[in-house]
Amino acid sequence: MPELRYNLLVRDWVIIATGRAKRPHDFIKAKKEIPPIPEYRDNCPFCPRNESLSPPETFRLGDAKVWRTRVVPNKFPALSSDEEIERKTDGIFNSVSGFGVHEVIVENPRHNTLIALMSDKEVEDIIRTYKTRYLSLSGKEHIEAIIIFKNHGPAAGTSLEHPHSQLIATPIVPPQIRSRLEHATRYFDTTGKCVGCFVLEQELKAKARVVIETDGFAVFMPYASFVPFQMLVLPKRHMASFADINDSEIFELASVLKIALSKLYRGLDNPDFNYTIRSIPVHENGEEYFHWYLSILPRLTQPAGFELGSGMFINTALPEEAAEFLRNIKC
Ligand SMILES: [Zn+2]
Ligand SMILES: [Zn+2]
Repeated sequence: MPELRYNLLVRDWVIIATGRAKRPHDFIKAKKEIPPIPEYRDNCPFCPRNESLSPPETFRLGDAKVWRTRVVPNKFPALSSDEEIERKTDGIFNSVSGFGVHEVIVENPRHNTLIALMSDKEVEDIIRTYKTRYLSLSGKEHIEAIIIFKNHGPAAGTSLEHPHSQLIATPIVPPQIRSRLEHATRYFDTTGKCVGCFVLEQELKAKARVVIETDGFAVFMPYASFVPFQMLVLPKRHMASFADINDSEIFELASVLKIALSKLYRGLDNPDFNYTIRSIPVHENGEEYFHWYLSILPRLTQPAGFELGSGMFINTALPEEAAEFLRNIKC
């Protein structure tokens, strides 16, 4: 029987369509015949020695000659910091100029690697780069929200091979972030608890959907996962902003993120996925209410008309079965 499940963390309902449910193995895509990818491509703007093909960098880890990660402005930015910030309201027509920041984080010099295949130290460099850029941009005037995300594979919105993530800093708080913060605030007002801490505590107690647990982090599939194999990575220490992560947490997050993505890579044959870091807007005072996390969304199914018409997802995999499947994948 299908079941509607409530996602307390984000105040959304999901249909777990057990009647149409597939077994975890059914989500393994037929092996694509991909020719081997080289370690370097001379036309790739993100490969070492091709730095002149991308706009001047804003940050690098490494030294003047050899970099380990690099941050460059997006060549085709969704928002631009060259714009003056200007708001216009004319009757119902409300707009802000396209001010903001859109950067690409080149995760590694090697063209043909993936987080799932990198060393822990290399993944740590990526997280450290995220934090450095997050901190730097949160001090910038008119920036309200910073969204760090990764698109991996065509179904996730990229065909670029070179491992990279992106960051967009916006001059408004996106409505979905606002609504989740309001939900977390109301939850705190009613119960005196952080909804993130509470969900984490309950999922760890239930165990069925936990994929990885370390001293400082847990990776689990939400009870009401939006999509098959959705995973949340939550710090156990209450923190509203990703920017508050400390050195040992960076190290630990790198390790659990790598294991989570390796399990997907090995278990489901390198599926396309997105991940996003959900952090409190930069100028908010809801430090007690909100709990930052990283959400991994494999793109194994395609949202369609019902999702667009209702904002409610149909998930055809049981989170408990999917979690057990990934727990058993050795990395
Ligand atoms: Zn490259
Ligand atoms: Zn919390």
